[in-house]
Amino acid sequence: MLSLKTKLMAAAVAAASATATASANEVNLYSARHYDSDQTIYDAFTKETGIKVNLIEGDSNALIERIEREGAASPADVLITVDAGNLWRADQAGIFQPVKSEALDKRLPDNLQHPEGHWFGFSQRLRVIYYDRSDFDPSQISTYEDLAKPEFKGEICIRSSSNIYNQSLLASMIEHHDVEGAEAWAQGVVDNMARAPQGGDTDQILAVAAGECNLAVGNHYYYARLLNSDKVEDREAARKVGIIFPNQSGRGVHANISGGGVIATAPNRDNAVRFLEFLTSDTAQEVFAGSNHEFPAVDGVLRNPVLDTWGNLKIDDINVSVYGENNPEAVRIFDRVGWR
Ligand code: FE
Repeated sequence: MLSLKTKLMAAAVAAASATATASANEVNLYSARHYDSDQTIYDAFTKETGIKVNLIEGDSNALIERIEREGAASPADVLITVDAGNLWRADQAGIFQPVKSEALDKRLPDNLQHPEGHWFGFSQRLRVIYYDRSDFDPSQISTYEDLAKPEFKGEICIRSSSNIYNQSLLASMIEHHDVEGAEAWAQGVVDNMARAPQGGDTDQILAVAAGECNLAVGNHYYYARLLNSDKVEDREAARKVGIIFPNQSGRGVHANISGGGVIATAPNRDNAVRFLEFLTSDTAQEVFAGSNHEFPAVDGVLRNPVLDTWGNLKIDDINVSVYGENNPEAVRIFDRVGWR
């Protein structure tokens, strides 16, 4: 048995090392974003605060598993990932802690924050409808609901239901139409598919350009990326494709977030909160959103010019945490309707 003195000494050593970790002037960031320009945000943060950013990059699920595996010993302070569905999964795994920050609360819209501050959204991405300019009259379709109409049989390209973006879109349909309505819609879309789901969002846009389908669904920034590509064939493909922002005379276009939160076991908690607060600064917002042609979460921040060509868009202002809460039901619906 250990003597009391030994125990006290061990406790003192543990406390000292905890203090050493906590006082280290650094923040350990686990990020599922892979944009080189994000480094300019970290450099600006270090310059302003003196806090060094140690970056670990990886796929969202891999990072969540890693933090779970590392447990209480995890060096992770902050996790940044895309899609409220992924943030919800991370939160279900218990890896976030609540953060109360006046700065975050003031700068970010309520609907882009977890209700108890477990995570925050720093930019917005829209899930839109694409159409073949040469072969489709866009006045035929103005809502997500229209995608399920029988007259569009064999016309829709959309990726698989294992993708979190589609799960979150269906989760929003559950919120707006209940389970039965959402299921009928998903069944209608499956019935209208031009081909079995395959590829990513860019592949759906390219399939429209190639004439394989008249309609497709995908996130807006993939299209913006093609438009701004240095490859002439990408730009040509994008020009063949038109974009429809759904539900403009109703609830608005479905929007998701890139976001992050502070890890429950964060050794540098204060630095982590400071880092999240910094992400809401005008400069960080411009880069964080702009690097991926996303919409800044903070109002009035300069955005990527291509977004302004789309005018004033009505965006669904539902709290994005709903996408997580409805995620298991969405996955069950996809299974029932045979959306692969
Ligand atoms: Fe994406």
